[in-house]
Amino acid sequence: CRPGFFKASPHSQSCSKCPPHSYTNEEASTSCVCEKDYFRRESDPPTMACTRPPSAPRNAISNVNETSVFLEWIPPADTGGRKDVSYYIACKKCISHAGVCEECGGQVRYLPRQIGLKNTSVMMVDLLAHTNYTFEIEAVNGVSSLSPGIRQYVSVNVTTNQAAPSPVTIVKKGKIAKNSISLSWQEPDRPNGIILEYEIKYFEKDQETSYTIIKSKETTITAEGLKPASVYVFQIRARTAAGYGVFSRRFEFETTPVFAASSDESQIPIIAVSVTVGVILLAVVIGFLLSGSCCECGCGRASSLCAVAHPSLIWRCGYSKAKQDPEEEKMHFHNGHIKLPGVRTYIDPHTYEDPNQAVHEFAKEIEASCITIERVIGAGEFGEVCSGRLKLPGKRELPVAIKTLKVGYTEKQRRDFLGEASIMGQFDHPNIIHLEGVVTKSKPVMIVTEYMENGSLDTFLKKNDGQFTVIQLVGMLRGIAAGMKYLSDMGYVHRDLAARNILINSNLVCKVSDFGLSRVLEDDPEAAYTTRGGKIPIRWTAPEAIAFRKFTSASDVWSYGIVMWEVVSYGERPYWEMTNQDVIKAVEEGYRLPSPMDCPAALYQLMLDCWQKDRNSRPKFEEIVNMLDKLIRNPSSLKTLVNASSRVSNLLSDHGPLGSGAYRSVGEWLEAIKMGRYTELFMENGYSSMDAVAQVTLEDLRRLGVTLVGHQKKIMNSLQEMKVQLINGMVPL
Ligand code: AMP
Repeated sequence: CRPGFFKASPHSQSCSKCPPHSYTNEEASTSCVCEKDYFRRESDPPTMACTRPPSAPRNAISNVNETSVFLEWIPPADTGGRKDVSYYIACKKCISHAGVCEECGGQVRYLPRQIGLKNTSVMMVDLLAHTNYTFEIEAVNGVSSLSPGIRQYVSVNVTTNQAAPSPVTIVKKGKIAKNSISLSWQEPDRPNGIILEYEIKYFEKDQETSYTIIKSKETTITAEGLKPASVYVFQIRARTAAGYGVFSRRFEFETTPVFAASSDESQIPIIAVSVTVGVILLAVVIGFLLSGSCCECGCGRASSLCAVAHPSLIWRCGYSKAKQDPEEEKMHFHNGHIKLPGVRTYIDPHTYEDPNQAVHEFAKEIEASCITIERVIGAGEFGEVCSGRLKLPGKRELPVAIKTLKVGYTEKQRRDFLGEASIMGQFDHPNIIHLEGVVTKSKPVMIVTEYMENGSLDTFLKKNDGQFTVIQLVGMLRGIAAGMKYLSDMGYVHRDLAARNILINSNLVCKVSDFGLSRVLEDDPEAAYTTRGGKIPIRWTAPEAIAFRKFTSASDVWSYGIVMWEVVSYGERPYWEMTNQDVIKAVEEGYRLPSPMDCPAALYQLMLDCWQKDRNSRPKFEEIVNMLDKLIRNPSSLKTLVNASSRVSNLLSDHGPLGSGAYRSVGEWLEAIKMGRYTELFMENGYSSMDAVAQVTLEDLRRLGVTLVGHQKKIMNSLQEMKVQLINGMVPL
């Protein structure tokens, strides 16, 4: 063969031209040499082009969820001419202030794997809380190992959030007597912070409705006052500044029979003490019965006797579910001022005679000189909201949001304004807006909170329509659900959960905000007066809360479903322009919002579950968090979307075509929604009357060539709106 040609085997008939990116300058070559920076694997046939390593992956995005990070990217622009591109994830852990980074080591888990990833996404779990990580996503192919060139990667920096401790897994029994059981346990494998205390819940087997909760800073407790020869179930959970972890599995232990010898001589004094305690308890219980009911102890004016006499009695009082509606009970309990160390229940600041006392109990007073106001970022009901910086002595400077109380306020306005701080100050959770403190000793009066760079969620989503992956949206929803779970565990009912009341930071972490009492609804422009008085944000509120003001965590779950809908539809207004009255009527009649466009079926099903008429059938926030976690762990479960043509059917019963009353022609309709450019397209394809238009599905639009998502949305939403109006009798048939 002449130069530039080769013959791999002497049996070949003819010489072949050197494949791309290879050459030969000699005659009679049996193969061609790769050009500079191109390579050939041993297994590549000599007829194959020489190839090179791929370029770096592109557009990597991250989604942080407590101590898990999900990464997604798009394939490299240049695959190097090969089909065997895969990805490798390098992980570095950085100590933020020192700027020192080290390899992450073996405790990080990669799902599905760290090396040889074929898909363009990966999830890292078991990271440390509050830690800066750098992940390098490297694209490699069959010739990367032959290339001495630089690695081609894209790197992503993330900071993990605070995470609740992992469950306690090892619990051992200690001394067991006929009336008491001692237990000890080991700290959770991943405390994710300093454990502040443990909560131990126990109840007699099969009697779960009446349980006792005790708190302990140690890893041992003795449950006393138990029945002889009875099996008790114990569950333990740990608490850090991030909140409670999940309860351990159930551990069962049985007390000894009445006549059994005690396992330990030292039991005698304990028995003596417990008899004494028992007598005191009996006296206290009789006292309660004479003076009213047991629960009055928990909810009446702070009876210190109650708290001191036997804290767990108060707990029984608050949590015994045997007789009452659990929500009613919580109210009894929470309205009391009994402060047990570490008991995390929300205390209504209204129950303080002096609201200033509540503020100072729950919020730190900050000196105005520590705050630098930078710019106005919003308008609250009581005054401007600004961004700025807070520098407390001995602490790092922090970016903060500062809500101010405008001059000339009334005493009630001041009280209401600071009421929000009294509530916010009781919460400590990564998905609840964090209160830094208040300024009350100088003017203007201010509430200082952590700064959320992306502002309120509804505006942020509208501004970034269509810009996020489904996993990112689910990550946002997971955060909101986790915050709501925390609030409902504390017995706080939000009443005004809506995307406008969620704030989002630069890491796309969502936090629940806007706390208040009656104020919340006074403040909300969405709130409307109901026939029974009182302002309610109708579109976000459960029917029982609208009809008879039954606001509970279950009605918050309904609102959460609406927030899910808002998030997936990028800030669309629920029920569009329907009037509040029509919304109430449609919901009462069993109609529900249709699925947003391109919505995963699993998410829409969860929305529908949140909108169950029977509030007891709605999922609990804990279940919602678990469900979303499952979806995040298994992103392929989000691939099934709600069928485009069935999207509208839910809000709409089977009805005839659209009335022609709203628009006289297809042209007029399309002009009205600024989509006039498609008139001809519609007419040419047989959609020449409003009746015909009524049958259009998203699939049809795509087929017709309406490819812009924004336009598809506009047209489908307008159709939907007309149909909604139709069922409400607003468009004459
Ligand atoms: P609010 O009175 O809480 O509804 O706040 C009014 C507006 O101020 C909100 O819609 C946000 O745009 C902005 N804002 C309030 N708090 C914060 C915060 N912590 N970080 C950033 N923006 C905030």
